[in-house]
Amino acid sequence: MLSTDFDAIVIGAGFAGATAARDLAQGGYSVLLLEARDRLGGRVYYGTFAETGLPVDFGGTWVSSTLNHFVGREIERYGVGYDESPPIQTYGSLFGGHRFESSVPIHPEELQSFERTALHVLTAASRFDPTLPIETQNYRDLDIPWSEFLAQADPEPATRDLFDSWVLLEGGCPTSEISALAGIWTIVQHGNSLINFVLAADKKIGGGPLALLDPMVGHPGIDVRLETPVVRVHQEADAVTVATAENQLITARGVVVAVPVNCWDDIEFAPALNEDKRRGCALRPGTTGVKAFALVENAPPYFAGMSAGPIHRVSTEAEYEGASLVAFFTRTDLLDVNDRDAVQRALEVMMPGCTVIKCEGHDWTTDPYSDGSYATIPVGIVQHLAGMRAPEQRLAFATADIARGKTFWIDGAIESGSAAAAILQRVLERSALISQ
Ligand SMILES: Cc1cc2nc3c(=O)[nH]c(=O)nc-3n(C[C@H](O)[C@H](O)[C@H](O)COP(=O)(O)OP(=O)(O)OC[C@H]3O[C@@H](n4cnc5c(N)ncnc54)[C@H](O)[C@@H]3O)c2cc1C
Repeated sequence: MLSTDFDAIVIGAGFAGATAARDLAQGGYSVLLLEARDRLGGRVYYGTFAETGLPVDFGGTWVSSTLNHFVGREIERYGVGYDESPPIQTYGSLFGGHRFESSVPIHPEELQSFERTALHVLTAASRFDPTLPIETQNYRDLDIPWSEFLAQADPEPATRDLFDSWVLLEGGCPTSEISALAGIWTIVQHGNSLINFVLAADKKIGGGPLALLDPMVGHPGIDVRLETPVVRVHQEADAVTVATAENQLITARGVVVAVPVNCWDDIEFAPALNEDKRRGCALRPGTTGVKAFALVENAPPYFAGMSAGPIHRVSTEAEYEGASLVAFFTRTDLLDVNDRDAVQRALEVMMPGCTVIKCEGHDWTTDPYSDGSYATIPVGIVQHLAGMRAPEQRLAFATADIARGKTFWIDGAIESGSAAAAILQRVLERSALISQ
């Protein structure tokens, strides 16, 4: 057998790459995990807020203890448990020009509109089997913009804003660009329930996401190199050569590419990636969604609110020296989350009378190693998904962005990482047999 530096190289140390590396190392293979940034985690990014020392997650955080089975498996395995979010005491959502200060923000005059719209969405969701890949199902008439799909139910303004806010939070891009399938598939993955869709992700990984990711990456047999961007992946008959930005050449018998889909075209692949991968990457599933934090005075106690924009969701995360630390979701094209005056204007609409002391968020769209934020299903991408997931000779592909189940979630990243490791393991076993 041709001698290579490692059995496998995994490119990217987010949850997908960490899972793939751990599974391969557990299978007895030597693994090199190459990460471009100076930290692990990728789109989970645990830091501290604006010199306060308060721990915050600038990326993925919330998980469902009942519906995220892959996360649950890992949480149990490493014994990290769950952290709770603080209980909500006050509400303030803005839909159709009305302010709702209750946990069920439905205008009494729009109850029939709400019922009709919910039926429309849930009827579409009921067509799908959550255990089968979406692209193998009857999806085509639903691969239209969410705004068009919702208009079919003719919702009243507050009802439309309520449904839009849910999908905007998940979707991170305008409702005219996001496929109706993004909202529908998420509902399917949450047991065909609107309530689960909104409320299921109620817990956090105990001790923060790195408490789970660190032991995965620390599995014996994994060599980790940070600050090592990969620029080229060259496949030959017996081996793959990976070139780093510093032009170091490393060989392996197989590679898991675990970078976000938006970053696929930043790496030169020889031979070129298949057409589905190139088209899927060009559709940019990584969105402009952003989660940021603000330290706010005069906020209602333990507040939660939603709106159709520019703030899609805001919730109190902690109290700090008489002020509230709130997390909020928006899009980088709607709001500069590091501009205090702009954040003040946006948040005071949700929390009248509040004063923003400081704010901070991470712009995932200008970050070269994500080139976008959490992923969604843009119109037209589903027809490419099977080809985007498909291995190519000695390459397997992993990321939440192409997961079969909970696409765009940490759960999807873990699912996808395990699936890619299993595929690569078969490639390695087969090539070992052939060379015997
Ligand atoms: C703001 C925000 C909020 C979110 N909220 C939630 C939530 O509450 N719950 C939830 O479940 N999910 C949430 N998500 C989604 C979740 O965080 C992601 O889907 C998941 O973490 C993606 O994991 P991944 O491994 O597929 O990709 P990533 O985490 O992006 O990992 C890819 C890795 O590849 C590296 N890389 C890129 N290019 C190269 C290169 N050329 N060479 C080497 N390395 C490279 C990157 O640095 C990165 O570490 C959120 C995401 C964001 C951004």
